[in-house]
Amino acid sequence: MFSIPLAARILALFLLLSSSSLFGMPEPDVIHLKEGAKVEGRILRENEKEVVILTSTGEITFARERIRKIDRCPWAVDVFEKMWSQVDRKDEKALLELLDWCLDPARAPQLRAQARKVARRIVRLDRDNEKARKVLGQVKYKNRWVSKRVYRELKEKEKALAAEEAAQAEAERKARQEEKARLALIGGVPISKQVEENAKVDRAEEELLRSKLGLDYTVRSSRRISVKGVLDPEQAAIFLKLGERICGTLNKDLGLPVASSPFRNAKYHRLHLFFIRKDQIEKVLHYIDGTYTRYTPDFMKFSIRRGGGVASDGDGCVGFQIQGDGNDEDVFCHYLGHAYVESLGGNVGHWFTEGFALYCSIRFHGNAVHLCTTRSRYAQNVTEGDKKSAALVVAFRELQKMKRLPPVRALFRKHMNRLDEKDLAKCWGVVKLFMSAPYRAKFLKYLQALRYAGGKHEKALQTVYNLTPEQLDDLVYKL
Ligand SMILES: [Zn+2]
Repeated sequence: MFSIPLAARILALFLLLSSSSLFGMPEPDVIHLKEGAKVEGRILRENEKEVVILTSTGEITFARERIRKIDRCPWAVDVFEKMWSQVDRKDEKALLELLDWCLDPARAPQLRAQARKVARRIVRLDRDNEKARKVLGQVKYKNRWVSKRVYRELKEKEKALAAEEAAQAEAERKARQEEKARLALIGGVPISKQVEENAKVDRAEEELLRSKLGLDYTVRSSRRISVKGVLDPEQAAIFLKLGERICGTLNKDLGLPVASSPFRNAKYHRLHLFFIRKDQIEKVLHYIDGTYTRYTPDFMKFSIRRGGGVASDGDGCVGFQIQGDGNDEDVFCHYLGHAYVESLGGNVGHWFTEGFALYCSIRFHGNAVHLCTTRSRYAQNVTEGDKKSAALVVAFRELQKMKRLPPVRALFRKHMNRLDEKDLAKCWGVVKLFMSAPYRAKFLKYLQALRYAGGKHEKALQTVYNLTPEQLDDLVYKL
């Protein structure tokens, strides 16, 4: 068993013996005082203010300011070697005492290597001895003792990893938020789910039409469009693709999210278009009336008498077309145009909704053959021509050149069946103007203003475009 008192005794022995066969003859530490005297002995302790030296007559404390210089001797190393040879190296307590002795400020500067030697021995007995680890310059990192440098590196790595994880978490959070915002635009449900859901609804509707009405119809839906009737699935798919493209393109032009659906009034935010045979009109109209919308008796009577056409009343996004006259695609674009502009603008007026429908047909189909107006009487010439030279566009250009387009003010109150070919050309021209730069940027606002103003164009024109109807006429001439 080793102890501090023993160490002190060895030290005393060291000092008092004039010579030693064991340790050799150690040189003393010498304190040179400013006043000239010098004191020999062993420095025991020292700090900034004072130095304590053990002399043959005992401990003496000197203030630093009195000391000129100190000559130190490597005596402590010799004492250490003596103690090291005697200590039980399996005795942790004795080793710790020896370590403390080494760490005494009076000796520590000379015994750095020795202290480490003792510390290394201690940690072999007790791996988590903090004092010994401290002497070895080690710190604990996750149950491991490592050097301070390694510790710093590990910590830095940890920090970098944490930052990376935080960045990743933030990116994920942002992605989730964006996904949520994106979904909010399309009804909060992913597109694939909506399509899946629509397919289920389609099958149910096919079944219902068969069992209740005896109609063997194909029903196919995309997200925003539903077509049904005497169609084969391939034809249906073509319509759906076209319809989705039109919705996306118009949305983009108006600054709406491409994936959003304007059709808010029909089931599942979809537009429904029936392609039927003439003898099925009454059956189908009664089915639509009640399933998708409510028709007035007059409207029902009129539609049945007319024998077909599109029924877009600005509320129910549903209509029908007598299949087989070869104009299905034109009708599809036309009808989508009506539903789109009325979904956004409400009751925008006969002339304007027809103008938008014609615009859609000409833009997405290439020609506008279908008209909602009674074509035989007022607008027969408009339906001639082909995709390359849409008759309506030709008529518009001629009237434009001759300055014979009707003033827009004259269209405001005109009933659908009173629109003649000049009127229709003008309707198309006005919509074309609004859908071109720079007017396009404010077109959505215009539709909203129209809804707000109950379809009063003069007011909406003033509010949104700061134009009078007459100024609009001038702009259409320059189109
Ligand atoms: Zn129409």
